[in-house]
Amino acid sequence: MVNYAFPPLPRPALPIVGSDVVFPVRRIFCVGRNYSAHAREMGHDPDREPPFFFTKPGDALIGDGCDIPYPLATENLHHEAELVVAFGPNAQVFGYAIGNDLTRRDIQAQAKKQGRPWDMAKGFDLSAACGPVHLVKDTGPMTSGKIALTVNGKLRQQADLGDMIWPVFDIVVALYGLVSLTAGDLIYTGTPAGVGALVPGDTCVVSIEGLGSLTNKIVPPTHK
Ligand code: MN
Repeated sequence: MVNYAFPPLPRPALPIVGSDVVFPVRRIFCVGRNYSAHAREMGHDPDREPPFFFTKPGDALIGDGCDIPYPLATENLHHEAELVVAFGPNAQVFGYAIGNDLTRRDIQAQAKKQGRPWDMAKGFDLSAACGPVHLVKDTGPMTSGKIALTVNGKLRQQADLGDMIWPVFDIVVALYGLVSLTAGDLIYTGTPAGVGALVPGDTCVVSIEGLGSLTNKIVPPTHK
């Protein structure tokens, strides 16, 4: 029995579709530049780069239907529609979910220019919007299917999961070469072209064929 100095915060978790139990989240890994058109819009040659990863804290998660206060320290919050892979015990794919990899694009641009880490551009509070986990036995391998994102009903991003440069299997193999993936880990698999800004009052909806949709409203900042 461990005696904690204060009660530990509850573990972040995601609902599981069709189940009363929830998916306990451990770490969040994200893939950069995994759709050619998005890599090009960010100024890179997609044919030359192996997959690379960055992370967000597990407690950056924010669920479907939740309001997201406009974050601190940015004037250019961006949306990124993504397929999320959820890992279960024995390093098996447990299921899939819809994600929105919220990004402080101005901080990221500055970090790139100065050769600094992306943590503060990507891993801030409530930066990992994620819908419920759909069990892999219901979804199949998710190698194709439409992915789209709208802001206030207007289409911003649209692609097919089959357009990924590195499909889920390749991403998992690459990540296995770097860390021990374990139960509760999530992987955001990259975003298609069409990323853009969100402002308070915007309603952002990400949809993926077979997984339904993820809706979050950006609300005014709660800080001064
Ligand atoms: Mn992303």
